Amino acid sequence: MSADESIDGEPASEYEVVIVGGGPAGCSAGVFTARAGLETVIFDRGRSSLRRCAHLENYLGFPAGIDIETFSDLLHAHVETAGCEIVSDLVESVTRASETGFSIETQEGHSLQADRVIAATRYGCEYLHPLDGDDEMFETHEHNGEEAERFDRSYADAHGRTPINGLYIASPVEEMSQQAITAAGYGAAVGRHVIGDVRREKGYWDDVAERVDWVRREHARDPEWGDRERWREYFDEHSPDEIELSDESVVELREAEIDDRLAAYVSDDEIERRTQRAHDRILDHLDTDRIRTYLDRVDAESGT
Ligand SMILES: Cc1cc2nc3c(=O)[nH]c(=O)nc-3n(C[C@H](O)[C@H](O)[C@H](O)COP(=O)(O)OP(=O)(O)OC[C@H]3O[C@@H](n4cnc5c(N)ncnc54)[C@H](O)[C@@H]3O)c2cc1C
Repeated sequence: MSADESIDGEPASEYEVVIVGGGPAGCSAGVFTARAGLETVIFDRGRSSLRRCAHLENYLGFPAGIDIETFSDLLHAHVETAGCEIVSDLVESVTRASETGFSIETQEGHSLQADRVIAATRYGCEYLHPLDGDDEMFETHEHNGEEAERFDRSYADAHGRTPINGLYIASPVEEMSQQAITAAGYGAAVGRHVIGDVRREKGYWDDVAERVDWVRREHARDPEWGDRERWREYFDEHSPDEIELSDESVVELREAEIDDRLAAYVSDDEIERRTQRAHDRILDHLDTDRIRTYLDRVDAESGT
């Protein structure tokens, strides 16, 4: 971990978002929260549904499927590139640290504080027990003829929000967690709601709070939208009549939002640079012997 490692009297590390679980749901949530600038750490260790899968054949974009090790490595490389820290450690408990924050303790003795926690573990949510003062998170069900306890899949609402302010569930969620691609999609949706909630707290109104993470082609932009002044007009037109913020704060939010929107446009050269980088990053994760075999075959086929 890069931030302070506490438990022995050191101050605890602080994050805006702690994600428990680095499978499809948690990694997907983390890509969104980190890209929105939220300081995010993902803990990943313990029982994994993904690792029980023999070969992933129905995740879009892999025509012949993808082996689990490569897929997992790609997910983790992606979250790191997006700006998340990923730590191989098991979260043992999440407790309320203050009216709004949480304390997280791990198997390796890390202790940290977070404003928000996203649970993204298809199996086992025991670490949430300390938050379950009202006995509402877990239910009993029959498993192999015995009564067993499991996390109540309907505890969170349809957006992953829970009755505990700041606690979100990306997994387990009935149906969504049953396939890797739907788990990833749902994780992304939960990540976006976390971002939306953070932005609402800063004063953004509903129309703009749920940030859209789009990268746009500069050459397709109508020139009027390259002009800051046009964006200011747009925000003024779309602001509610009543905002509980000082004029300076509204201007600050608006200008930050305009910076964000303008940064979304990329030139053709930049698209080309990103394309090369994207291909290189995928190659990093492929077996080099396979790459050589593939190139030999291409050379043989083209007669070079
Ligand atoms: C046998 C089998 C075969 C499958 N085959 C397919 C298939 O072919 N196609 C398909 O789409 N889906 C398949 N699935 C389902 C797929 O694995 C899940 O839908 C998907 O992995 C759910 O993602 P998740 O992120 O919610 O959970 P997980 O994949 O379980 O990821 C959760 C992660 O959290 C970590 N973790 C757990 N507890 C903690 C903790 N306390 N602290 C820190 N980290 C923790 C785990 O190590 C894990 O890496 C299969 C599942 C099984 C069991």
